[in-house]
Amino acid sequence: MFFTTPSRSTEQPLPLLAGRNYRCHCGQPVFFRNSKCLACGTPLGYDCERGLLLPLMPGPREGTWQEWQAQAAPAAAPPDDAQPPPLETIPGQESAAVTAPAPVAAADGVPPVQAVALESGEPLYKRCLNLSTPASCNWLVPVEDPADMCRACRLNRTIPDLTDPALPDNGYLWGRVELAKRRLVSSLILLGLPVASRMSEDTGRGLMFDFLRSPVNGPHIMTGHNTGLITLNVDEADDAKREAVRKAMREPYRTLLGHFRHEVGHYYWDRLIAGTPWMDGFHELFGDETLDYKASLQRNYDEGPPADWPLHYVSAYASTHPWEDWAECWAHYLHMRDAIDTALSFGLSVDHFDLEFTPFTIDALHQPEHPEAEQFLTFLNHWTRLTTMLNEMSRSMGQPDFYPFILPTEVVAKLHFIHLVVSSGSWLQEQGNAQPPAQGQVEAPVEAPAQSEAGGEMIAATQSQQSQGQQQGS
Ligand SMILES: [Zn+2]
Ligand SMILES: [Zn+2]
Ligand SMILES: [Zn+2]
Repeated sequence: MFFTTPSRSTEQPLPLLAGRNYRCHCGQPVFFRNSKCLACGTPLGYDCERGLLLPLMPGPREGTWQEWQAQAAPAAAPPDDAQPPPLETIPGQESAAVTAPAPVAAADGVPPVQAVALESGEPLYKRCLNLSTPASCNWLVPVEDPADMCRACRLNRTIPDLTDPALPDNGYLWGRVELAKRRLVSSLILLGLPVASRMSEDTGRGLMFDFLRSPVNGPHIMTGHNTGLITLNVDEADDAKREAVRKAMREPYRTLLGHFRHEVGHYYWDRLIAGTPWMDGFHELFGDETLDYKASLQRNYDEGPPADWPLHYVSAYASTHPWEDWAECWAHYLHMRDAIDTALSFGLSVDHFDLEFTPFTIDALHQPEHPEAEQFLTFLNHWTRLTTMLNEMSRSMGQPDFYPFILPTEVVAKLHFIHLVVSSGSWLQEQGNAQPPAQGQVEAPVEAPAQSEAGGEMIAATQSQQSQGQQQGS
């Protein structure tokens, strides 16, 4: 028997953070990773503060760019039958164009239509220095910012050596790493979380990344977090290697983006929870973080998770230690926010799904009496319905489940707690606080014994050693 759940709510879930539904001025759908419109050749750049992928034209000064404006277009205008639709700059307000309009100019060999802006008060940008590297970074930097790199790229302390002839795929792997990292950082910025480079912007409490590769003769590079430094083994960008580890670890899901979202969760525990009034709620939901961390990981490695972990945790790994439980739930919160944003910005509404579904109720939340509790509940139920359908879609294509997890009620309370922390802005009042205690951790052993410090012997090019890429034109 099949029941149709009536549309239980016309409320929207949480407000849209990031519309992921972008269009070029020519009407062509374009995507977060694109640096050029494939239909008309217009350069594209991502403004991380506004969460917008913008079609660009050269600005009034050399090396500057600004958002494409129809009125500034030169005489070589598109033909009448290819008038571009008005550019929607507000994300999530309309569905994607499903058919590509005639291009303004052919992409192959023909220079794109170029427009040059006049001084107009519009935001002026420069391209991130990493546009011309294997990172292919399409992010924009405000022209007044003295940094050469965007807010995502300036977080890097160490990248793989791009000149080593023995490792010719370093550039390819690094590019995949950076794409996932940009997706992460864009959400963090739009959530209003503190995102500052430990290298250049906040040397005391900032964030930075080492992207390392295990030398042939060791030591094995462990992915992990330690006091604002996230280390990622770039082999995780190699699909075959990552899949082999996923299988060996019996994980349902292993991606670069998942790694980033998990590890940054440890960083934000240091920043947002440690030494704050949030600790009481953390203890209530996640437990006592003073449990011996290394011993907990080792016990999980030796004995596996407790049999009843699905009742209490979002993943088996979350059962190892309260810090891992937090980081896993944090990652899921970011998964949910980004994926729901994507669905909504393409006009996908779960209200029309013909789906048997028992929704979570308000008492599952950490603070059911919170004035915005209903909104979070709507978001959660939206997510569950969406993923139920998308899992079926994945199965219909013979693919692994889109979201191979089940949220038990206890995890719902943990997710609500994370939402309350993220939406509180509480760290803004705590800028003067002392440095929180460091977790000093790396992840569970995978194929090799844990290394307490990743990358000591790995010689890699730092950002400052990269060849100086030129400001990129179209
Ligand atoms: Zn275009
Ligand atoms: Zn960049
Ligand atoms: Zn972890």
